[in-house]
Amino acid sequence: MIQARTELRYLKGVGPRRATGLAAQGLETAEDLLYHLPFRYEDRRSFAAIDQLAPGGEPHTLSVRVESSRLIRTRRRGFTLFEAVVADSTGSIKAVWYNQPYLTRVMVADRPVVLFARAVLDRSRRLILENPEYELPEGDDAEGIHTGRVVPVYRKVGELNSRGLRGVIHRTLSAIDPGSLGDVVPPEVAGRHGLLGRLDALWAAHFPPGDASLDSLESRSTPAHRSLAFEEIFLLQLALAFRRQGVREEKRGITYEITDALRTRLGRMLPFKLTGAQKAVLKEIGGDLRSSHPMNRLLQGDVGSGKTIVALLTLLVAVDNGYQAALMVPTEILAEQHARNIRRILEQGGIECRMGLLTGSLRAAARREVLGQIRAGEVQLVVGTHALFEEGVQFRRLGLAVVDEQHRFGVLQRAALAEKGPRPDVLVMTATPIPRSLALTLYGDLDLSVINELPPGRTPVRTFVRTELQREQVYEGLKREVAQGRQAYVVVPLVEETAKSDLKAATEFAEHLRSRMLPGLRVGMVHGRMKGAEKDAVMQEFVAGAIDVLVATTVIEVGVDVSNASVMIIEHAERFGLSQLHQLRGRVGRGAARSYCVLLVGEQGHGRDARERLAVMEQTSDGFRIAEKDLELRGPGAVFGTQQHGLSDLQFLSVMLRDPEWVAQARSEAQALVGGDAVIRETMRQLLGTLRAGWRRRLDLARVG
Ligand code: ADP
Ligand code: MG
Repeated sequence: MIQARTELRYLKGVGPRRATGLAAQGLETAEDLLYHLPFRYEDRRSFAAIDQLAPGGEPHTLSVRVESSRLIRTRRRGFTLFEAVVADSTGSIKAVWYNQPYLTRVMVADRPVVLFARAVLDRSRRLILENPEYELPEGDDAEGIHTGRVVPVYRKVGELNSRGLRGVIHRTLSAIDPGSLGDVVPPEVAGRHGLLGRLDALWAAHFPPGDASLDSLESRSTPAHRSLAFEEIFLLQLALAFRRQGVREEKRGITYEITDALRTRLGRMLPFKLTGAQKAVLKEIGGDLRSSHPMNRLLQGDVGSGKTIVALLTLLVAVDNGYQAALMVPTEILAEQHARNIRRILEQGGIECRMGLLTGSLRAAARREVLGQIRAGEVQLVVGTHALFEEGVQFRRLGLAVVDEQHRFGVLQRAALAEKGPRPDVLVMTATPIPRSLALTLYGDLDLSVINELPPGRTPVRTFVRTELQREQVYEGLKREVAQGRQAYVVVPLVEETAKSDLKAATEFAEHLRSRMLPGLRVGMVHGRMKGAEKDAVMQEFVAGAIDVLVATTVIEVGVDVSNASVMIIEHAERFGLSQLHQLRGRVGRGAARSYCVLLVGEQGHGRDARERLAVMEQTSDGFRIAEKDLELRGPGAVFGTQQHGLSDLQFLSVMLRDPEWVAQARSEAQALVGGDAVIRETMRQLLGTLRAGWRRRLDLARVG
């Protein structure tokens, strides 16, 4: 018998070496492994026959043998094509893969493989399989877990690929001691909502019963998935409810005074008239500041809705009350831009406030100086990156922290900043349009304010999808705009901000623009690997109008504000997610002038998904609609990103998004428990304390302020 807490290295098929790889990704015990759920399913109840394939439609699973294969190097540098002819008893078909040269070692002639793909027509209107997923059936399948059923497909962990995981998980499910898994949701609650027991739910989620509907599996709406989702939401809500209780019992926060004199001074400082929405959220924030309760508020507002000025006014209230205030932003470019803009607004408005800038790229001496000033309280307002919550940063009297573009920060980082003051007020701002029901679930201890209106005089950015063939015209258009004194962004994708080869390609592209496509124009470049000072120098030049065209990797995505820029060309737009494109596009259309954005589609962008996605950008500029579409097309993991974002730790985010009613039920059960019987409450509190690591990480979401 395997116990829930049995370490993975003791499992057959894992062993010490593989266990290390699993542990590196957070899987340590048998229970952890069972919660590594399939990210999709394949219907292998029957295989499709090659002579029955038709273009388009659903993907098929094929059981084939490789006949021949070859690697083709195309004229475009760095781009390869791999072709294999595969056959079953009914016929043969060509399969093609892009940029996967290592397949020469995998698709060896005569080898049996299982392919999973859509059939499409190629340029000469022949039926082919495009970028199939594949699996190599090795050994026998006595248990019948790899074929003849709906098969789970897993993300690779460490050295274990999908097939390996399938075997180990199947063995673990068969041998685990059910008693050791225990109950998370109390039996009465489970009964009320018709939840499956934990082990039953896990079995059915990994190895669905014979009559399972593929649709409900894919949408995670089987009874098994709903049961597991309930468990996750329930625990999250439980942790939040305890947390809220704790906050209520904690000592009081700061009560700020907002005097008439301050109002007048701040009013005079404003470079423009606030929108109705800005005023409304300021009123809510003002209420928090004046109350003895510490503020813990999430401010949502689409790109360009004017969150920065709201942040500044909030920060200045704290400063006026004799406290220090901090503005934390995710990138150095942004920190420097905010610092510059705030300085200008303060100067023009005649407001006295000593400001400091703290970023990771400060030289040691400069850093020591700023740190000293922060500690001594000489600096009243600090703008900085995550350098702000490093150890060694001590405030004299931190009263309030604003965290901009909060989706870029982990919850823990935010908490670390909050801990730098006795009980500072916290305002977190985001342009990510998390639906309200979800925001309440995830940030249950945050209040929510929304800026639902853009400043006046904005003309929507006109957006066009264009292909390689129209490239010349697109860049001609850019030249015309620059000739009229405007500036432009050209965005190039990097698969990874740090990959050297990509960076080289991007740099070469900038050079190509400078020498060939845009001779005579001043072309500059920023990318994520540049030193802060270098980047800043280029940005300064762009702001000052000394650069006409800024070639940039996505480091410009958040917050950068140059209102004279009226054109954005996004190269290989198909490689970006919708939400990212929306953020990028938000960099133009910031002044009153007509702006436009061209989404240039590269060679691989002709798939149906890419076209559907980009069409959304042509049709709407509404961030919420775009996010919804993005979620629908790519799923929450891809939309919210994997790095640093607590959201992606939630396995059942998609269930939560689709079924707010289910969320509400789990939520009210958890709240009832926390408010009810003392013995049960204590049991639950202990349960939370003994959860496995994966759960604890997810529940850290609950520790915001
Ligand atoms: P975001 O919410 O994306 O952070 P910003 O705060 O950067 O947006 O504001 C976008 C632009 O709109 C800035 O140039 C800012 O000066 C301007 N802006 C903000 N509020 C107003 C307003 N009420 N009227 C006119 N312009 C405004
Ligand atoms: Mg901003």
